[in-house]
Amino acid sequence: MSAAAGPLLDRIRALIAATGPLSVADFMAMALGDPEHGYYTTRDPFGAAGDFVTAPEISQMFGELVGAFAVAVHADLGAPDPVRLVELGPGRGTLMGDFLRVAAVRPGFRRAIDLHLVETSPRLRAAQAAVLARAGVPATWHDRLDTLPAGPLIVIANEFFDALPVRQLVRTAEGWRERVVGLGPDGSLAFGAGAAGVDPDLVPPHARLAPLGTVVEVARVAAAVMGDLAHRVVRDGGVVLAIDYGSDRSGAGDTLQAVARHRFADALADPGAVDLTVQVDFEALAAAARAEGAAVHGPVGQGDFLVRLGLLERAGRLGAEKGAADRDAIVAAVDRLAGPDQMGTLFKAMAVTRPGLTVPGF
Ligand code: SAH
Repeated sequence: MSAAAGPLLDRIRALIAATGPLSVADFMAMALGDPEHGYYTTRDPFGAAGDFVTAPEISQMFGELVGAFAVAVHADLGAPDPVRLVELGPGRGTLMGDFLRVAAVRPGFRRAIDLHLVETSPRLRAAQAAVLARAGVPATWHDRLDTLPAGPLIVIANEFFDALPVRQLVRTAEGWRERVVGLGPDGSLAFGAGAAGVDPDLVPPHARLAPLGTVVEVARVAAAVMGDLAHRVVRDGGVVLAIDYGSDRSGAGDTLQAVARHRFADALADPGAVDLTVQVDFEALAAAARAEGAAVHGPVGQGDFLVRLGLLERAGRLGAEKGAADRDAIVAAVDRLAGPDQMGTLFKAMAVTRPGLTVPGF
């Protein structure tokens, strides 16, 4: 435990002392979203000076290509006007700023956009508002999906699902238990196995025969979000585009990861000061969408997705207007976004539509 650990650690220790260990999901939700001391509440984590770099922060090309994707899908949907353009967890607003520049080349699309942002962090909301003021596009902010209006919608979620809390279950000699965060002998936070058994239906079928000690993750919040969005898409028409790091097959294992200042960190030492994410289980997200009657496209690697949308052509055009140093930076950005040893295969793109629609990039 670091001597400089923040106020959230004290609060969580007191809570555990009073009411018992927290599920990993409750711990994650507090560490990231506590209204006073949560990671996303208090910080702007992005960029070289922050804790991690996301695709839109690497290059304007990312948001531009997502914009080109949306322009094409909007036309395929029959150009609904208005169309709800929804971004989940927009961070600094960088993706949307780049997106809207591209959208402006299709005045019909740009005019049809009714922009809704789902963001819990007041600090990041302010950063998003500044970008949108420059773009001259009004927006409505939401804490949750329930308040989104009905109607055809285009939903963009980049590195959003990986921030949603997951429960972890661990197989012990006494059966499956909730993996919990409790207090170790020295009073610091420690992982453990909960005392009571869990509902056996909660254990994913693929993990039922896993060896003792196996941890599996159950992403109920992510599945509920995807289910709600898929329901809207089937009812009203539209698309959900989710891009995240994760696996296309459900598997076992503890994927909870803490990052600070571009390095792996301890998830328990100073909650609220480090980012926490999990790998997204795209198989489970796809199942949640199909359960609502939606069609699922992909997942495909982010590299393939971006290249099919024209990453290399876009990089070429951007580089043609620039000098040698800028051109090198563009080449490096292409490699980071699409290279198989970088974000190109670990990150995946998946789209959800009504059955019968094809979408670019898949
Ligand atoms: N899409 C951005 C930011 C990714 S970080 C980018 O690619 O750069 C995750 C984002 O989701 C942040 O904006 C964070 O504040 C937001 N977020 C995390 N959990 C959330 C929740 N439960 N509800 C709404 N927004 C959330």
